[in-house]
Parts: sequence; C-alpha cells; structure tokens
Amino acid sequence: MGDITKNTKFINVCWTCGKHHDLGDLSFERPDGQGYKCDACPGFVISPSGKVQGFLAPVVKIFLVEDGETHRFAAKDEEECREYYKELYGEDLDEESDVTEITDPEEWNRKFIHVEDQPGLASIIDIINESTEFPTIISSTVY
Ligand SMILES: [Zn+2]
Repeated sequence: MGDITKNTKFINVCWTCGKHHDLGDLSFERPDGQGYKCDACPGFVISPSGKVQGFLAPVVKIFLVEDGETHRFAAKDEEECREYYKELYGEDLDEESDVTEITDPEEWNRKFIHVEDQPGLASIIDIINESTEFPTIISSTVY
C-alpha cells in the first residue's frame, strides 16, 4: 500500500459485505475503541481494535478515451475531460469516441508502460501522485 498524498484518498472496505466507504479523516481509527459500523450490514468497516482494509483511490476521476487510439485522462468530470482533450489535440472529441470512467481499483493500481521510450512501469495511482495539477493526461496508447 502506497502513501496517501493530496491526490489520493484511502477507501475503507467493510470486513463483512465489502461495501466501499469514504470516511475521510476517520479512515484508520476511532479514538473511542468502538470501531465503525457499516451502514449496509451489521459488520465493521473499522474494527474496535482499529483494523482496516481498503485501497487508495484518486481524488479526481479517471477517464478512458478511445478515439482510435487509447488515452487516459484525470479530470473532475467528463466535460472537463473533453475540454482538456480539445486543448491538447486542437479538436473536439468526436461523437463516436468512447469516454468511460475507470472505477476499478485494480485498474487504478495496475502497472503499465508509462512513456514508450523510457523504462519503468507506473500505475494510474503513481502518476496521479506525481501530478501537480488537473486535468492531466495519464497515458496515451496503453500497453
Ligand atoms: Zn458491510
């Protein structure tokens, strides 16, 4: 598990039903030793002894854009993603292009070749952590 930065947040997962909970500052512990109960089942999200499970999530949305090539962008919403695409490539994303939000934590953490002519793998989370402003491009043509 990587470190939380200003660009990522920890999402807690219920120990019993697996529901995702965005608890903000409460993510890791409850000072009263009562734990934190799930709102979807009788289970704990944070156990009374402070045990948690979860994953890092980007604080921005991640979009997969397929326009013949494959791109990934980080933006606050689809509209901002489309505006940023236009800014980068000088043209509107056409109607047939697919814009899909990537919401799978495994996909956020999967390592892929980031820059074609440079060695080393990076995940979406890695790239988000290094980004200083949004929207931004995460990848173009994914391996
Ligand atoms: Zn639950």
